[in-house]
Amino acid sequence: MATRKVDVLIAGGGPSGLSAALVLGRARRSVLLIDDEKPRNAVVRQSHGFLTRDGIEPMKLRQLAREQISQYDYVHFEQDCVESIEKAGKLFLASTRSGLAVYSRKVIIATGMKDDLPDIPGLADAYGKSIFMCPYCDGYELQSRPMAVFGQGENLVKFASVIWNWSKDLIVFTNGDDHLSANQKKELDEHGIRIIETAIAGLMSEKGMLKSVVLKNGEEIQREFGFIKNSGQHQSARLPDQLGIRLKNNGGYETLRHGLTEAAGLLVIGDAKNAFTSLIGAAGEGYEAGVALNDDMIQEDWEKSVKP
Ligand SMILES: Cc1cc2nc3c(=O)[nH]c(=O)nc-3n(C[C@H](O)[C@H](O)[C@H](O)COP(=O)(O)OP(=O)(O)OC[C@H]3O[C@@H](n4cnc5c(N)ncnc54)[C@H](O)[C@@H]3O)c2cc1C
Repeated sequence: MATRKVDVLIAGGGPSGLSAALVLGRARRSVLLIDDEKPRNAVVRQSHGFLTRDGIEPMKLRQLAREQISQYDYVHFEQDCVESIEKAGKLFLASTRSGLAVYSRKVIIATGMKDDLPDIPGLADAYGKSIFMCPYCDGYELQSRPMAVFGQGENLVKFASVIWNWSKDLIVFTNGDDHLSANQKKELDEHGIRIIETAIAGLMSEKGMLKSVVLKNGEEIQREFGFIKNSGQHQSARLPDQLGIRLKNNGGYETLRHGLTEAAGLLVIGDAKNAFTSLIGAAGEGYEAGVALNDDMIQEDWEKSVKP
């Protein structure tokens, strides 16, 4: 089994992990960043809202970051999957799918989340091309177009009102759920938003571009774009469980300040901590965690190096 020893192992190479790697590399910490290259946002063609990189392809943003970080000899990248993390004396020991064993003083978990899509036939074909989750990420490009909102539950009216900010040509599809109250229906109606509670048979799209929503009663409703009200997400990896860290109600891991956790030396940042962070928010968290972790290591080294 191949073995490596570094100051910091980072599991996950999205904006949070990459940003932490940059700070730590500049702080002269040896870093191994392991990423299995299956990011949550890979389905979209463009990412928005990241200063100086608005409209960039998701993988291009990562590629540029890796090119810049590679200038720092302290940081190394591996394409692999971290499968387990345990304590080995004062160090952590991580094992990867390819059989690499990594000993490190500290570990940053930046493994992100995966989305659970509603069970609507044809939705997966259009997801990321004409149907999205986050209006702040993708709403501007679809403004004023015929729009669908797919969802149920108590926050549905609130979510519809957010999407209404980008398009007033809006139909809410509850896909067979008929739990909207009379007041909620009235509120949507007062804003010109039609509600369709009939179950959906499927979505028709061409090359991912939505054409219509077909209902189980045979009716076909023309729509060009859609947003899904959050239908849940789950952790990409459950590594912190192995060190006793628990999930919060929103599915993110429990942390203290700066992403530090109850397990000393283990940090969780980005979507793995928050459920949804945004690219620039995740990068900010990586920076903050990198500084906090390096400050801790400086303090440890400072105390150990006292001359007798
Ligand atoms: C469809 C969609 C579109 C979006 N568009 C935008 C947008 O336009 N603007 C915006 O600001 N935000 C957008 N977001 C949100 C944004 O993508 C996330 O908030 C952000 O990527 C979180 O960064 P992260 O570093 O925490 O996780 P991620 O970017 O998800 O990165 C996690 C990485 O960890 C890797 N990984 C997972 N498990 C392991 C393991 N065991 N070992 C090794 N590697 C592992 C994954 O493969 C992945 O590469 C979008 C999200 C979605 C779902």
